[in-house]
Amino acid sequence: MSINPGSFVNEKIKRIPPSGIRKFFDLVSQTQGVISLGVGEPDFVTPWHIREACYYSLEKGYTMYTSNYGLPELREEIARYLTKFGLNYNPANEILVTVGVSEAVDLALRALTSPEDEVLIPDPSYVSYAPGAILAGGVPVPLRTYEKDDFKLTAQELKSKITPKSKILILTFPNNPTGAIMTKEDLEAIAKVVEEHNLVVISDEIYCELTYEGQHFSFAALPGMWERTVTLNGFSKAYAMTGWRIGYAAAPKEIIEAMMKIHQFTMLCAPIMGQKAALEALRNGESEMKKMVQSYNQRRNLILNGFKELGLKCFEPKGSFYAFPSIQNTGLTSEEFAERLLIEEKVAVVPGNAFGESGEGFIRCCYAASIANINEALERMSRFLKKL
Ligand code: PLP
Repeated sequence: MSINPGSFVNEKIKRIPPSGIRKFFDLVSQTQGVISLGVGEPDFVTPWHIREACYYSLEKGYTMYTSNYGLPELREEIARYLTKFGLNYNPANEILVTVGVSEAVDLALRALTSPEDEVLIPDPSYVSYAPGAILAGGVPVPLRTYEKDDFKLTAQELKSKITPKSKILILTFPNNPTGAIMTKEDLEAIAKVVEEHNLVVISDEIYCELTYEGQHFSFAALPGMWERTVTLNGFSKAYAMTGWRIGYAAAPKEIIEAMMKIHQFTMLCAPIMGQKAALEALRNGESEMKKMVQSYNQRRNLILNGFKELGLKCFEPKGSFYAFPSIQNTGLTSEEFAERLLIEEKVAVVPGNAFGESGEGFIRCCYAASIANINEALERMSRFLKKL
């Protein structure tokens, strides 16, 4: 009898389509001399004092498990940090340190989703929410955002997608891939709908420090929203710490306890080395972080001016480190554009539709690349566009 090992795989997993960008990144890795505006990662190495704090902690023998919730002193620093956004959480039981925001997204979805619950997700947005909702037994429902609205989520769009099964709303601003932000007033309009329909909110604020206009505003700081919001944040983007894998969730204790149950039986705790480094980042990392943000802002202006000169229409991103120019007037699809740009001019960008259907007609360009590389990429793009 011939056995098909694939037949053993869980039906839910089979329903999740393979990542749209995998094929594309395979192509990138096989091509020599590529300038990448593809991967969403800081181009800085983690600041030295943070790395050094980790060395010292190893030297002192900190190599063991921590509390399931995370190091108490780290949770205290996180609680202190969040007060800057008007958020108050008890470090004893309202904060959970996780293995990156990635784990926090998964835990929040699994802790809150009952079978067939609908999870409302801005589109385009980060690639893990919809698969996470399916893995949790829920049904992802895209909420379209449009360039004409500066890619903000509108209350009107949210209302139009509400059904009796709607349960969870994901907010993710500053946004990956669009760079859109939501102001306090924008969020107030969303909060009204949330209250009216008794939704629970997962607010992924991983890019909050990368806000170039005004101040970041946390959804949970709005009246009546704290009780129904899980705020997610982490160290990967602001402190250039992607490889350390530290993030956290802050929420009312009943929700954190539920997330903790899953975390303790799956992950046990986040690695202590990363937690020690994160502690140093929060205690002494602000000035280095601000310098990195300033540098992203400089590069944001550079790439925006470059696109303008190329005649590529681009909404001004106010947060994160992505620009999301429209390629609609080239007559190519996002995938055709990205594939041809890679093959013909060796510049890697990500097709916008990898982040949801509303991303079709756009490409995501991560400008956390060197100024020389951004200039070279713009030159190559200019050559490419002239050929079309
Ligand atoms: N949330 C968003 C919006 C992201 O863009 C990313 C990574 O790109 C993550 C979460 C994952 O972050 P982490 O490295 O903390 O797992």
